Amino acid sequence: ASQIQRKPDWLRVKLPIGKEYAHVRGLVDGHKLHTICESGNCPNMGECWGAGTATFMILGNICTRSCSFCAVATGRPLAVDVDEPNRVATSVKLMQVKHCVITSVDRDDLKDGGSIIWAETINAIRRESPETTLETLLPDFRGNWDNLARVLETRPEVVSHNLETVRRLTKEVRIQAKYDRSLEALKHVSAAGLRTKSGIMLGLGETEDDLLEAMDDLLAAGVHILTLGQYLQPTRNHHPVLDWIHPDQFARLKQIGLDKGFRYVESGPLVRSSYHAEKHLFEL
Ligand code: SF4
Ligand code: SF4
Repeated sequence: ASQIQRKPDWLRVKLPIGKEYAHVRGLVDGHKLHTICESGNCPNMGECWGAGTATFMILGNICTRSCSFCAVATGRPLAVDVDEPNRVATSVKLMQVKHCVITSVDRDDLKDGGSIIWAETINAIRRESPETTLETLLPDFRGNWDNLARVLETRPEVVSHNLETVRRLTKEVRIQAKYDRSLEALKHVSAAGLRTKSGIMLGLGETEDDLLEAMDDLLAAGVHILTLGQYLQPTRNHHPVLDWIHPDQFARLKQIGLDKGFRYVESGPLVRSSYHAEKHLFEL
């Protein structure tokens, strides 16, 4: 398939507005804080920050992996910053984040996979902002389930690990990852009795059958919450966009997901893993 360059109209971005957004914006600028929302230039900032949700990335900004869709730089990461958990906790407090999403680069270079800093960050946020709910978007820890367990012991309100794409395309899209290993990671999360979430990007060349299979696999792994969004190419060197999925199609897929048994499905062109994250705090 050839690459389709022009973005359709429905991907036009809404401008950030509102009082709460301005408040958070001021804090972020004033304290030189860093969020994925900003560094990823996310189109949903006005809405998310207005709702008190923000996403932080920990363990540096250089990843040991090189997924073909991802804008994060690949390379040898810097040494672990032991002060990071406290700095993130201070930021969350200053920004008065109600629902905090944390993600990280993959640290395949570390024996603990970064799980110690992960756990310390969550504990530091709990200490500083006991009212804030947490969602952790975790790596697969290369299948080291002890490292995963170290994070799960901190009992985040929601735990996500993104499948990102269907089985058939995983090798091409997430070269160092494995479809079944991601499913296994999710099984560990749901078995720990935690709200379990995963996300898939559309437009990478998957068929509807591929996608339905992935939904079934996620449900079998115990996943409660599914996000489906349009893949956007960060630069020309990244995986091409092969399809623009129409909003009606996203709506149809949402209904299919709900009928299949997911508790929540966020599905739409601008949906990102952390979009509407604060709404996923249902009773287990
Ligand atoms: Fe930030 Fe995620 Fe919302 Fe984008 S969708 S603004 S990254 S919280
Ligand atoms: Fe990007 Fe995560 Fe892949 Fe690293 S592991 S390249 S941060 S998607």
